[in-house]
Amino acid sequence: MKRRNPYPVGNMMQSNLHSFGMLIKERTFSSANYRYGFNSQEKVDEVAGEGNTNTAEYWEYDTRLGRRWNLDPKPNPSISDYAAFANNPIFFNDVIGDIPWQQVFKGKTISHHSDFAQRRDFKENGVVVHDFHNGIDMPEKSGTVIRTLAAGKVIEASYDKWNGNHVRVDHGNGIKLVYDHMVEQPLVKAGDQLKDGGDIGKVGSTGLSTGNHLHISMTINGQYADIGDVKDLQKFLTGDETVKISVMTDKKTGKMEDRIYQINKDTGKLMQLPNTSNEKNSQDKKSDIKAADTKREKNNRDVYN
Ligand SMILES: [Zn+2]
Repeated sequence: MKRRNPYPVGNMMQSNLHSFGMLIKERTFSSANYRYGFNSQEKVDEVAGEGNTNTAEYWEYDTRLGRRWNLDPKPNPSISDYAAFANNPIFFNDVIGDIPWQQVFKGKTISHHSDFAQRRDFKENGVVVHDFHNGIDMPEKSGTVIRTLAAGKVIEASYDKWNGNHVRVDHGNGIKLVYDHMVEQPLVKAGDQLKDGGDIGKVGSTGLSTGNHLHISMTINGQYADIGDVKDLQKFLTGDETVKISVMTDKKTGKMEDRIYQINKDTGKLMQLPNTSNEKNSQDKKSDIKAADTKREKNNRDVYN
C-alpha cells in the first residue's frame, strides 16, 4: 500500500516509510551525511542496516517491528512496555520516547496538547463556519476508561448531537468540566458524587467528532479556560495549587487572557490574583506553540472537535 511519509525530516532525505519508520525498499534516497530518519530521530545504521534502528533520549527501537528495545520509562498498563507510539504511529508523535499518553486516563495528569482556542472550520448546512476550540482533545482507543480529574458532583450525564455521550461535573466555585464523545452511556448519572479519579465513562467518537478521542473542556464562571494549564485539578480545588490559566474572553474572536486563580484555604472561595507577570500574553504564547505544533503535527494529527 502506498503511504505518505508522516514525519517530514527535511530536504536531505527523501524516503517513503512504513508506519513505524521502516524504509520502503527502492523508494529511498538518503544522503550519507544525514543522520536523522523517521520522527527526526537519529539512525543507528550499524546495528541492523540502514533505517532499521533509531535512537533518541529515552529509547532505542526497531523500525521494522515498531517495538522499543528498552522498557518504556512511563509505561501504560494497557499496552506492552515495549510498545512504540502507543501502537498508533498515525496519531502519536513521540520524538524522545517518553510521552505518557494515557495518564489522564489514570485520572491525573493531562498531557498538554495546546489545541485549546485553535480555530476550527466546519460546514453547517453547506456553509463554512468557524469557532475556537473550547477544550483539549486527547486521541485514545475506543473503550478506554475515563476518570475524573478531581472530586465533584455530576450535573449532567446525557447525549446530544454535539457532545455525544458526555458528563458534566460541577467542582464548586463556578468551575465545571465536561468530558465528551463517550462511546456509550456514561458510567455515572446526574446527582452522583464523584471522588477524585472515579470512573465516569469510556472513550468513543459520538457527537461532532471525527475519531476516537476524549474532549475535555473547563469553564470558570461560564468562560472557557484551558484545562491543560492546570497541573493537578484536585490540588487546585483544595487550595494547594495556584494556577495561571488562559481564559477565552471572547468566543467570537478567540481572544484570550492569562489569569491567576487560587482557592483560599480558609474561606474555600475562588480568588483571582493580580497578574503582574511580564511574560508574553497567552495569545502570543499560544500562537507560538501552535505554529510549532502545526509544523510538527500537521501531517499526523487530525482535527477531532
Ligand atoms: Zn475537542
